[in-house]
Amino acid sequence: MKVRAAVLREMGLAAPYEQSKPLTIETVELAPPGAGELLVRVLAAGLCHSDLSVIDGSRPRPMPMVLGHEATGEIVELGADVAGFAVGDRVVFSFVPMCGHCEPCAAGRPALCEPGAQANASGRLLGGGMRWHDGGQQQLQHHLGVSGFAEYTVTSAHSAVRIDDDLPPEIAALFGCAVMTGVGAVINTARVAPGESVAIFGLGGVGLAALLGARAASAYPLIAVDPVPEKLALARELCADVVVDPTREDVVATIREHTRGGAMHVIESVGNEKVLAQAYAATRRGGTTVTVGLPAPQQMLSIPAVSLTAEERTIKGSYMGSAVPSRDIPRYVALYRNGRLPVDRLLSHRLTLDEINTGFDRLQRGEAIRQVVLFD
Ligand SMILES: [Zn+2]
Ligand SMILES: [Zn+2]
Repeated sequence: MKVRAAVLREMGLAAPYEQSKPLTIETVELAPPGAGELLVRVLAAGLCHSDLSVIDGSRPRPMPMVLGHEATGEIVELGADVAGFAVGDRVVFSFVPMCGHCEPCAAGRPALCEPGAQANASGRLLGGGMRWHDGGQQQLQHHLGVSGFAEYTVTSAHSAVRIDDDLPPEIAALFGCAVMTGVGAVINTARVAPGESVAIFGLGGVGLAALLGARAASAYPLIAVDPVPEKLALARELCADVVVDPTREDVVATIREHTRGGAMHVIESVGNEKVLAQAYAATRRGGTTVTVGLPAPQQMLSIPAVSLTAEERTIKGSYMGSAVPSRDIPRYVALYRNGRLPVDRLLSHRLTLDEINTGFDRLQRGEAIRQVVLFD
């Protein structure tokens, strides 16, 4: 079938993207779903910093690619041998497909699924298939098994989680990356307990979702760190007890002062090794520093090595919020519906597919939280 999609053909084009147009809106060919796959009409897709990292080349992927990994849609066709889904089901995509059989999957850590990671790195679906072609019959890569910046997409059934069908699409999409990653970092990775202090470095979609997750976990105090005044204002409005602008204050000293020596949990979502070292310095003795950011591959982290032993410190990575998507997404949706996880506050802009390059300019300049492309 013919589908309008946002295709990235070349990484590293200079901003502003409104002029360089790294994403081209093309009518491309989408093959029918193979065995174990779903054809999904995409209803909404969010613009995430990891899409931007592919666009600017800091997280290289095979090209050309139909981008987008945070999305929701409605199943319109089932491939052969699909169990547990029906036409008409609403789904949120998980950007790591979970095979269900490898060692991490068997251990309850499907965010680390090995065949899933391999498929994602090679721009293919979990079963190895590629369903995109352009007009010239060149194959286009899948982005993390999702490729949400398209009117329709084909995905592995192992990349989909069924959700309530009355959830507004622009909210539902957020659960696929920002919410699953941010809330999961707090709940699954850091395992924050009530009354423990939490500091969040970086208030993009993931960082603000982590802030909401820490609130839902009854953490106290909640400290939010970001150089953008509007984001600090939103964090305070949402639930932050203390906000810190690192360009105006000594961020480590301020956090130590409000937590009697450092936060028990510090979540770093910036993806910069210097910020991560600062987050580590702001963590208390016996505390945990969790990083969800994705620094460029050549970056090295420098921290005082002895502190790991002498202060019983832990530093942990959190990929996709250490999520079990089929368990966590319905839980987070229930918390949202109940008013305890107001993730709708992360939604800052609604876009058409044709406005997507402008959206990435906004994201790059720190002028947006979550922007969602809506399809009709
Ligand atoms: Zn993302
Ligand atoms: Zn697996």
